[in-house]
Amino acid sequence: MSSPRPHFLVLTFPFQGHIAPALRLARRLLAEAPDALVTFSTTEDAHRRMFPAKPCDGDGAKVATDEHDGRLEFLPFSDGTETGILPNMAFNAYLASFHAEGARTVAEILDALAARGRPVTRVVYTLLLPWAADVARDRGVPSALYWIQPVAVFIIYFHYFHGHGTIVAEHRHDPSFVVEFPGLEPLTIGDLPNFLTDAVDPSNIFHNVFNTSRDLMETLDKEGPKATVLVNTCQELERHALAAVGAIDVLPVGPVLPSGNVSGIFKQDDAEYMEWLDAKPENSVVYVAFGSLATMAREQVDELLLGLEESGRPYLCVIRKDIKVALADAEAEMLHERLKNGMVVEWCDQVQVLSHVAVGCFLTHCGWNSVLESVACGVPMVCVPGMSDQRMNAQLVVRDWRVGVRAQVDKGGVLRAAEVRRCIDEVMDNSEAAAEVRQMAGKWKQIVEEATGKGGSSDRNLMAFVDDGARSA
Ligand code: UDP
Ligand code: UDP
Repeated sequence: MSSPRPHFLVLTFPFQGHIAPALRLARRLLAEAPDALVTFSTTEDAHRRMFPAKPCDGDGAKVATDEHDGRLEFLPFSDGTETGILPNMAFNAYLASFHAEGARTVAEILDALAARGRPVTRVVYTLLLPWAADVARDRGVPSALYWIQPVAVFIIYFHYFHGHGTIVAEHRHDPSFVVEFPGLEPLTIGDLPNFLTDAVDPSNIFHNVFNTSRDLMETLDKEGPKATVLVNTCQELERHALAAVGAIDVLPVGPVLPSGNVSGIFKQDDAEYMEWLDAKPENSVVYVAFGSLATMAREQVDELLLGLEESGRPYLCVIRKDIKVALADAEAEMLHERLKNGMVVEWCDQVQVLSHVAVGCFLTHCGWNSVLESVACGVPMVCVPGMSDQRMNAQLVVRDWRVGVRAQVDKGGVLRAAEVRRCIDEVMDNSEAAAEVRQMAGKWKQIVEEATGKGGSSDRNLMAFVDDGARSA
């Protein structure tokens, strides 16, 4: 009996920072396995945004693409809402509905694909949908978690729900209390994901993220020795953490770098900013962006722009439309008039920007995708971490890889202009320390390039995963 073609169903939460690395992984799978099929699935609303102009063909909302010889298809699942997830939406309620309707409709997708003679041989799911593994198990399909944060953060979550939770919960109001996790340098409570310190509280707006994280770790327990975790990192970036993961099959397959604005959530500015960059000297520009979710109050925008202006260096700063809208209209319009050395855009192709020779530093909120993109492009960072994994990510950047500095915010959480200037100088001026950071950034860029290149550690791991998929198919 001939075995069916390897067919990966890649499922993702509808955030830019999740869709993008998931889609890039999907493309890598297709590149590694020339006979494989991928069905990529996120929520209906996100799906519509990704394909505003594509007519849906017969099979419900399915979108077939010409890419990879038609081996990549898009088929959405439902989150039970009309609108999809909106900013300021009650996140706990959204996650509950996402779980219930998601699990039901992903099961339908698995059945429909099997009925079409293209049974799924492996489900790959990102964070926040642990139920995907249950749905897959019910149908006898093996699954793999795609962890889109560092292994270090995986270890924190894993051990939190396997014994460390009590001590963390006990000290969660003391940001300087030190906790030790296997394979990681000592961390403080303040370095841990806020979902484990604040969201443990049932009244917290992210309490269901806490519950979902717990479910995710329980899911891995249920999978037992079969549990596979792909991680968007590479062996070289997180050697100690990887050595400490123990029995679970953790495969670093990254960095898989998202390309372009795949989620369709943001309207990209015209590429004028690329011409603007072309006119700037090598390593002279400060690039500033805080990812797809972080918000900024008026005061923060003012301090940031003031600090950038005072640094005297050219800068390219992303201020998303939703942030501008939240500022008073007149003020937002005046934004551009205040800029002497810089340019503000609402959204750019970040990988393209970071790859530009003119960019000499990235002032970042330390979302994991942004960090990986900066490392892969050899750009030193000024870290301004906020929520989730960002504080741990900043530790990796500053302490482990020494490719950046950490900015301090004031008591009210505001990053002041003087601190912006100080940090930028620290990685861009002529000092020995700055030269060292730049040198380390160059070194890591090369290491990451080798890891993801042909025969590199991540490339080999991905191949092993694909072969394993073929065997179980
Ligand atoms: N690269 C990466 N992660 C990936 C794929 C590629 O960092 O998942 C890097 C890789 O090191 C290479 C460059 O991006 O130097 C171009 O990759 P590739 O040849 O695979 O081209 P693409 O995937 O963009 O078609
Ligand atoms: N990004 C982009 N253009 C922008 C700002 C961000 O393409 O103007 C991309 C960035 O390259 C990254 C993603 O948005 O891939 C943000 O993901 P990250 O994990 O850094 O942060 P999150 O948005 O999840 O907080």
